[in-house]
Amino acid sequence: MLRLEMAGHFLLSPTARNFTLTDVEKLSEDQVHALFAQQRWSKYGEGKQVCPECGAVDSHYVVHRRHQWRCKAKGCARTFSVTTGTKLQDHKLPLKKILQIIVIYTTAVKGISASQMARTVGVAYQTAFVLLHKLREGLLNNRNLEPLERHVEVDGGHFSGAVRKDRVKVLTKNNYYKGKFPDGPGHRAVIVFRQISPIKGQGAERTIVEVAFDENRKHVEPLSRQYIQKGTVVHTDGGDAFLNFSRQWTHHTVIHKKEYCTADGVNNNQAESYFARLRRLVRGQIHRMTPKYMLDYANEIAWREDVRRLETRAQLCDLLRGCLKQGRSRWWRGYWQGVHRAGELKFDPDARAT
Ligand SMILES: [Zn+2]
Repeated sequence: MLRLEMAGHFLLSPTARNFTLTDVEKLSEDQVHALFAQQRWSKYGEGKQVCPECGAVDSHYVVHRRHQWRCKAKGCARTFSVTTGTKLQDHKLPLKKILQIIVIYTTAVKGISASQMARTVGVAYQTAFVLLHKLREGLLNNRNLEPLERHVEVDGGHFSGAVRKDRVKVLTKNNYYKGKFPDGPGHRAVIVFRQISPIKGQGAERTIVEVAFDENRKHVEPLSRQYIQKGTVVHTDGGDAFLNFSRQWTHHTVIHKKEYCTADGVNNNQAESYFARLRRLVRGQIHRMTPKYMLDYANEIAWREDVRRLETRAQLCDLLRGCLKQGRSRWWRGYWQGVHRAGELKFDPDARAT
C-alpha cells in the first residue's frame, strides 16, 4: 500500500482528503457497486466474481439490473450479490449510504459512537450500532498476527471496572484517590505489541493487541512468545510482567516513575501513543467499554494507528476488503433480535498451553 512522505502534518495534506463525502455523493449507484466488487474480487481478475456457494471463479451471468450475478457452474446456479456471504450480507441500507458511513468512520481518527453516526447520516441507532460493529468484525478478521520482529514495544493498559467512588475523596496508601485505577471485577488489561519502524520519526509500523485478565507474567509472557520473534529488541516499562523478558529477547526498560525516555533513548512512546488514542475513544466517544467487546475496540484503534499515514482511499479500501472477505458476520446478525456473542474475546493462557 502507498505510504506517503510527509511535509508537515499528514492529515492537513491534500492526499489525506482524496476521498471525501462529496466524492461519494458524486458517484452513481453503479460506480459504488463497482468499487465494492473491485475490493471484493479484484485479485481474481477484471470482471470476475467468485460464487459464494461453490467457489467457481468466472464472469458469472449478470442478472437484476447488473447488481446480481448467477453462477455458471453446473448444478449450482446460485444467484448472489456483491455482499452475499460477507459481513455486509442482508444489508438494508443502499451501498452508497454504507460507503458514506465508511468514509465518516475511516476519517474519525479517534473513532465514532453509533449515536453520532446515526444522527450524522440519518439512520436508526440500531442500524448504525450493528454496522459499525460489523466493520470492527471485518478488521478483526483481517488482522495480521504474524510475529513482530526487529524492535518491538510492549505495554499493558487497564480499562473498565473502575470502582464506584465514594462521595468524599479517600486517599489510598499510594496517595491515589480510591477508584482512580480500575480494579473491580469488570477490569481487563489491553496488552499492546508494536513493531517500530527502522526509519526514525515514522513511529510504529504494525500493531497487535489482545485483551487479558490482567497485566501479569502469566498472561504477558505467553502472549509475547506468540507475537515477538527471537532476536528482537524489546522495550517495556519497569512492570513486573516483563521481569523475565531478558531471558528471551534483548530487553531494555524505561522506568516511568523516573523518566519518559532514558539517556540512551530507551522509551515506550509508541505503546503509550496507542493507549492515548484508545483512551480518547473511550472517554470521548463510546464512554463505556465492557470486557465483552473490548478487543473489538482495541483492535479498531490498532488499525487506526497502523494506517494513519495512508491516504483516505487506501484506508477505506483496506477496511472494505476486511468486511467483504468470505464469511458472514458471526456476532452481529440478529443482534437486536437477541443473538449475542457468547463470551469475551480474551486471551486464555491455560487454553493455549495445551
Ligand atoms: Zn456456484
